[in-house]
Amino acid sequence: MRLLIMGAPGAGKGTQAPALAAHHGVPAISTGDIFRANVKSGTELGKKVEALLAAGDLVPDSLTEEIIADRLDQPDTANGFLLDGFPRNMHQVEALDAYLTSKGQALDAVVFLDVDPEVLITRLLRRAELEGRADDNEETIRRRMDIYSSETKPLLDHYAAKGLLVDVNGIGSVEEVDARIQAAVKEHLAK
Ligand code: AMP
Repeated sequence: MRLLIMGAPGAGKGTQAPALAAHHGVPAISTGDIFRANVKSGTELGKKVEALLAAGDLVPDSLTEEIIADRLDQPDTANGFLLDGFPRNMHQVEALDAYLTSKGQALDAVVFLDVDPEVLITRLLRRAELEGRADDNEETIRRRMDIYSSETKPLLDHYAAKGLLVDVNGIGSVEEVDARIQAAVKEHLAK
């Protein structure tokens, strides 16, 4: 099973991804988590991306695509994967397509967590207080929202045109949204 989970910053991708991945017996792979872990442990990669993350800017495509290709080459992806936070623009979509084609693989579904932007700002500011993420301050949140609207949101049309998009209402408790995702993906795969 090869899945993507998409949505604006704060829509709940990182919260929902582990359960969805576990349900399908595949690893949840988050580019944001990979970058944050590298920043935390002070690796070369971490040093390269730290300022970009703190500003809410995207890490360059070439670097991000290389990291994802290396990660997808790991043996735990033999039955598939769930990507959270990748692809984020058209260049990354094409890189993923090329990677999958080279392996004779394709995506099965793209879950879109649909949440009103007003709700998202409130959620992100709350997360800033709880988790202390360096990129959860108001200015950076606005920057990440802008990048999402201009670069990532258009990908939804792309995946809808391919018949892969599964639209899920992302407002509700974690359990409610999880149940909606499971049901919607099941229905999509049965088509
Ligand atoms: P996330 O946890 O998905 O919100 O990602 C946090 C930050 O990591 C983003 O604001 C970017 O700086 C960086 N990042 C994560 N995924 C990508 C990606 N696919 N392309 C470029 N930068 C990314």
